[in-house]
Amino acid sequence: MKIFLLVCLIGCYSLLAQEQNEKPKWQGKFEQLGQMLPTPNEYRTGSGAPGPAYWQQQADYSINVELNDETHLITGSETITYFNNSPDVLKYLWLQLDQNILSDDSETSKVKVTSVNDTLTIGKLKNDLSLYGDYHGGYKIKSIKMISGADLKYVINHTMMRVDLKEPLKTGEKFSFNVEWSYTVPDRGNISSQADRGGMEFFPKDGNYLYCITYWFPRMCVYDDVNGWQNKQFLGQGEFALPFGNYKVNITVPADHVVGATGVLQNPATVLNSTEREQFKTASVSFDKPVIIVSQADAERKEKLKSKEKKTWEFKAENVRDFAFTSSRKFIWDAMAVKIGEKTTMAMSFYPKEGNPLWELESTKAIKNTLTTYSKYSLDYPYPVAISVHTASQGMEYPMICFNRGRPKADGTYTPEKRRDMVSVIIHEVGHNFYPMIINSDERQWAWMDEGLNSFVQYLTLKEHYPELPVLRGPASTIMAYMKGSKTIQRPLMVNAEQPIKLGAEQYTKCTAALNILRETVMGKELFDKAFKEYAERWAFKHPSPADFFRTMEDASAVDLDWFWRGWFYTTDHCDVSLDQVKWLKVKKQGTDPETKNKAVENLTAEEKNKPSKDFSGGPQPFSVLPTDERFYREFTSRFNDKALISSLENKNFYELKFTNKGGLVMPVIIEWTFKDGTKETEKLPAEIWRTNESTFTKVFIKDKEVTNVIIDPKNETADITPDDNAFPRVEKVSKFDELKKKAN
Ligand SMILES: [Zn+2]
Repeated sequence: MKIFLLVCLIGCYSLLAQEQNEKPKWQGKFEQLGQMLPTPNEYRTGSGAPGPAYWQQQADYSINVELNDETHLITGSETITYFNNSPDVLKYLWLQLDQNILSDDSETSKVKVTSVNDTLTIGKLKNDLSLYGDYHGGYKIKSIKMISGADLKYVINHTMMRVDLKEPLKTGEKFSFNVEWSYTVPDRGNISSQADRGGMEFFPKDGNYLYCITYWFPRMCVYDDVNGWQNKQFLGQGEFALPFGNYKVNITVPADHVVGATGVLQNPATVLNSTEREQFKTASVSFDKPVIIVSQADAERKEKLKSKEKKTWEFKAENVRDFAFTSSRKFIWDAMAVKIGEKTTMAMSFYPKEGNPLWELESTKAIKNTLTTYSKYSLDYPYPVAISVHTASQGMEYPMICFNRGRPKADGTYTPEKRRDMVSVIIHEVGHNFYPMIINSDERQWAWMDEGLNSFVQYLTLKEHYPELPVLRGPASTIMAYMKGSKTIQRPLMVNAEQPIKLGAEQYTKCTAALNILRETVMGKELFDKAFKEYAERWAFKHPSPADFFRTMEDASAVDLDWFWRGWFYTTDHCDVSLDQVKWLKVKKQGTDPETKNKAVENLTAEEKNKPSKDFSGGPQPFSVLPTDERFYREFTSRFNDKALISSLENKNFYELKFTNKGGLVMPVIIEWTFKDGTKETEKLPAEIWRTNESTFTKVFIKDKEVTNVIIDPKNETADITPDDNAFPRVEKVSKFDELKKKAN
């Protein structure tokens, strides 16, 4: 009962203290996250690893496709073999018909918010109102049949198609069926936003096309333990969720086209001439620089001849979640070998002459740099090829192949900014091979799981290989302006991928800055890197969820990060810590007459003493240290040497610092002390300093030397949005007006 009373008293007292403070109430950042995360089970464990009964589906594809260079029609037929590894019986299968985003009755147009201003560019109007002229996109499904030839019933709901099975598909069974379809490839120059993940570009000067053929076949949806069927409609911003499988794809194109694709070319003897085959052989052992396989001269010659013949390129890809390809007679092709662990990968670039000289210089080299750095921080790149394709104004990723912007001016010149952007985009899109192509997260649900994690390793790659280039994502400073901005347009990272208004600033930049802060300021590089790699290795070729990431990062590091995930991933709070007050104190000397010591300070009234000082000019305030009360020792017979301890403190400087949390995020507090002799010292308080009061705290420090200056977060590591209130004494800001006045005088 007595103990209870004491607890109650302490509790009441601290409540009172908080109320008096009139600062933000308890915000609960240190409440454990467990209550918000899904309950661990045999599929996904509490450690963040796949569980003993983890399962995932598999979808294998055998596809024949033809690209018509005159009509731009894609005509395909596929055999899908679907393996039901789930413990569930499936009565129907869901397939994605993503091209239907461009169909005449696309829901994407209907849910787009639009308005008219005094003036409007025709481009914006076209995009806003989906004015595609005589282009009619979307899939035409010709047939869906069982292997026996019997028709299968199907229902199309916009970008999703349900195929009803005649017999339920039981656990451990597989089911094969055929689909025939066609659609017209959209012109990227005419249809911008909805088609910018693929499509074709026309080059009027030579009358040729460059095709990026992406989400071009009916693809199986993911069925998993988290969502069941992930059949959320494709509206445009939320990307893709796809199961792994093996692909065999035969691509028929004009005979003079060069095709790059997910996977390994199976019939080089049929589609490449002897010089090209010879050059490819040379490239496959060239580890220091790229080798040209198809030259610019060859490409320019083909641009004029425009063959009417056809050729079929055969590709195979194992354990990939998608398949994309590119085709054009304009392509120059270079390649080099990259050693990753025990494996050799071919880094290859395809680009028209419009990409040169920049592409020949930078593209394949950037692929190599990406693969080596990402392999270090994630897992060894497992695929046999990695391709970068030159396109206008694009950056889009698929397994083993991606499409990247970076076009010099017509005369071949380019700005340093153009080069920076091109290199950054190539690193980013090649990097997507890891997140989400291998560490196969659900992009339709969570954008940060691929964009954020990928942008973070992109930053590490840029820092390692291109230290001279300015970085737009990574350091805390890159997100401060955004976090300072209006909260009405901000969304937490943990929202569905369709919801962010500022997708880039949030899901890319904020997540990158958060991970960088976690690595450099919260966990330290060693603990972070091990945990981050552990996550990549655990979930390679599997389907991770956010909880798996959060849990693994803690499981492998022994750092409780629940407060961090809560603050940075579940809220739009920002970091704004203020150093409100620094009190300088000294211990009263033993044996000295208190009457004669520090007379001036002693004579101050209590009110005057508590008045906050603006700097250290008032000198230290004395305070008394009393010997230990006998009752403290209870039953102990030993005693401290109080006198010795007190006298050892007599010449020390005591500093009591008072902090306020104005932004809501709890963060470590980094303190830089500057001493009278000009030397500096930095120390860091872990974020747990805020665990009992997230609004304010005071803390006392002992220093031998006198302090002239205290600054918190001196290197701007925590994205504190108002550095002005981080210094004591405050640095007076000279206003523009004062400056002008001074000048006038
Ligand atoms: Zn991306």
